[in-house]
Amino acid sequence: METEQTTEERKAHNEALFREANESVRAVQADLGLPAGRPMPFICECDDARCKTIVRLTQAEYEAIRAHARRFLVAPGHDGDENLAAKYGDYDVVEKSGIAGEIAEATNPRKERG
Ligand SMILES: [Zn+2]
Repeated sequence: METEQTTEERKAHNEALFREANESVRAVQADLGLPAGRPMPFICECDDARCKTIVRLTQAEYEAIRAHARRFLVAPGHDGDENLAAKYGDYDVVEKSGIAGEIAEATNPRKERG
């Protein structure tokens, strides 16, 4: 049981790392003044640390996902159906629950500061 939870935690932290990376990607895109309506490359935020899949979505689509602390964007099918919140053409949106959800909230880069 404990091993299982540790695995869950490790996976959740992998997802959090990819989310951090995508936040940097978004910041660079904003700095460059790239058109918001054009799909931009983001990294798949699934729990596989080796996954380097690129998914393309617009800034608005990305923001809609980031508005939820427990939601992640992944390439289609990369996180199974268990956590699936929404399915689009080029990407899936998953919502974490349990320990993974708690870690997702604790590591949320958009968390209110002070
Ligand atoms: Zn992936």
